[in-house]
Amino acid sequence: MFSSVLIANRGEIALRVARTARRMGMRVIAVYSEADAEAPFVAFADEAYCIGPAPARESYLVTERILDVAKQSGAECLHPGYGFLSENAEFAEACAAAGVVFVGPPPSAVRAMGLKDAAKSLVEKAGVPVVPGYHGANQDGAFLKAEADGIGYPVLIKAVAGGGGKGMRRVDKAADFDEALASCQREARNSFGNAHVLIEKYVLAPRHVEVQIFGDQHGNVIHFFERDCSMQRRHQKVIEEAPAPGMSAETRAAFGKAAVEAGKAVGYFGAGTVEFIADGSKGLRPDGFYFMEMNTRLQVEHPVTEAITGFDLVELQFRVAAGEKLPVVQGDLSISGHAVEARLYAEEPERGFLPSTGQLHALQLAGGEGIRIDSGVIEGGEVTPFYDPMIAKVIAHGANRDEALDRLRDALLGSIVAGPKTNTRFLTALLDHPDFRAGKLDTGLIDRNLEALGAVPPALDMQAVAAGALALVAEEKARVDAAAMARSGWATDPWNDADGFAKAPGRAGSVRVMAEGEEITLALDAAGEEAYGGEEVADREFTLVTAGEDVYVLDRGRQTRLTLIDALDVSFDDHGGDAGGNVKSPMHGKLVALFVSEGDVVEKGQRVAIVEAMKMEHPVLAPRAGTVENIAFEAGSQLGEGVRIMAIAEAAA
Ligand code: ADP
Ligand code: ADP
Ligand code: MG
Repeated sequence: MFSSVLIANRGEIALRVARTARRMGMRVIAVYSEADAEAPFVAFADEAYCIGPAPARESYLVTERILDVAKQSGAECLHPGYGFLSENAEFAEACAAAGVVFVGPPPSAVRAMGLKDAAKSLVEKAGVPVVPGYHGANQDGAFLKAEADGIGYPVLIKAVAGGGGKGMRRVDKAADFDEALASCQREARNSFGNAHVLIEKYVLAPRHVEVQIFGDQHGNVIHFFERDCSMQRRHQKVIEEAPAPGMSAETRAAFGKAAVEAGKAVGYFGAGTVEFIADGSKGLRPDGFYFMEMNTRLQVEHPVTEAITGFDLVELQFRVAAGEKLPVVQGDLSISGHAVEARLYAEEPERGFLPSTGQLHALQLAGGEGIRIDSGVIEGGEVTPFYDPMIAKVIAHGANRDEALDRLRDALLGSIVAGPKTNTRFLTALLDHPDFRAGKLDTGLIDRNLEALGAVPPALDMQAVAAGALALVAEEKARVDAAAMARSGWATDPWNDADGFAKAPGRAGSVRVMAEGEEITLALDAAGEEAYGGEEVADREFTLVTAGEDVYVLDRGRQTRLTLIDALDVSFDDHGGDAGGNVKSPMHGKLVALFVSEGDVVEKGQRVAIVEAMKMEHPVLAPRAGTVENIAFEAGSQLGEGVRIMAIAEAAA
């Protein structure tokens, strides 16, 4: 076995690989970008080397830097994790040339499966059913349209070099084809440097069922059963489980056989995943599924397979890379119970799933029976805008599906995250959705049920606001009391004493807060308490986290952030005046377009700018009608989250 490994990745997967490597007695070598200097995977490693600035193309994607570290540290092997360089055949070859064993499949297999068109042709020859469509070389627009017409709509146009759910367009009728093709090609060229596409029949009620395969360097290829990853948004997985609901032994054998054949067709060894699509409306059947693509790496959702089979897939990866035989044959494997994984993200489903980066003021992920947590961040750390904003993968294993789903839901609801917003509520609503519970799965379930899943702008939780306001006032009181005592001006305890209230200047008895961007005034007398449900507030178990001038009120996955504007006549300048008219950046990103100049008159809701973050454009809208003033940035500027871009002065009445 190897005595050292360089892990060419970051975050939860770097840590997960490192744990197994350490257990197997290896010296763990990490590489990290400047943005990750404080990350847990760096602290965990025996040695760590900074390989460049935050952007991945200047650090985690730079082959030379990584191989320099391999040489310098004397690493015997290199584990690429997933994403980054994990499916890059040239990188795997460069490792071999540098005398470092790449923990992954042979470069020839990576290359053969790298492009979706070539992969389909190849497995088709091996007798594996593929989605009907055109995956040839002719890229002429009129020709592709004729193919689509022949296949019959809806069709899916797919970038052959695509990945991560990008570079795909569903086309429902012939008239829309040309435009969809052009836009798909544009995205493919920009994101993958390759504009080639293929055309596929769009499978109705699609279910994504994939098979985990494993091969060794002695010609053995076996499978570790399937995972169902049909809960998707924008073709990206949200919840994954194993085994697939409704899978019979006969159908499982057919899936497994097809996956193993696909692997054998490319001389596969190491861990790989063969992705299939099935028409869910007819249930899973031995002759009702098609090959989509093969991922020649460890998959994000591999822990559910580990849970039901009892194997550490990363350990097997190391053993196979070192030349060992697989320690099991197909017949040795069996399924124990049911496992489900949720990807806990720093994002806001309520606002179009916008990433929500920033410091994690509190982070306590709830464990429990059958719960495994794979996380790459810790309390006090940061979710940066540079990488995938995943906070953790939470995996639950149970004796049956319901038990696994219940355990996962409880673990998510019992977790505390303050700072970035999370998709906790959305995930738990999905876990409890009647169709999902009943195993009626297809990739459209989430989109059809966005409202039921709570992915719509929420009303403020006024009880949370009240609880937070009281906490802010208590802090403020302590401050004001101290000042008052020092001046020996008014009563020492103006707050709890009705007379004291009356003596306090200005807005005594009320508090103004900024709650989730909304300015709210709450009365703090008995009438006010009634209005916001004083007694019920006392009954709810809020968790309060203070950070700087903010208080975060947490309640089973929901977060309400408050800042005090003023209480007892104390005002804070940065929130004074026209707070409602400030146009702020919704996130850390780049101001790519500015549509107005100072003096322009705008409507409420008018698009005034665009902020780009994580390669996605986010429109910035005028919060009210009025005149643009104080534009603080030029197009091209980098903006922090919440930074004021301009103000809209209210039109004179
Ligand atoms: P899985 O099926 O394992 O979930 P995904 O396709 O979602 O795999 O991708 C796994 C990881 O790799 C994710 O972090 C994703 O963001 C990243 N990834 C996948 N393909 C690409 C790509 N072409 N470019 C950049 N990142 C990618
Ligand atoms: P990626 O490399 O981005 O993972 P895939 O080919 O695996 O691309 O497709 C991603 C997702 O898109 C699938 O999981 C599935 O939900 C959907 N999809 C792909 N092909 C089809 C199809 N022919 N019909 C319906 N849905 C599809
Ligand atoms: Mg895929």
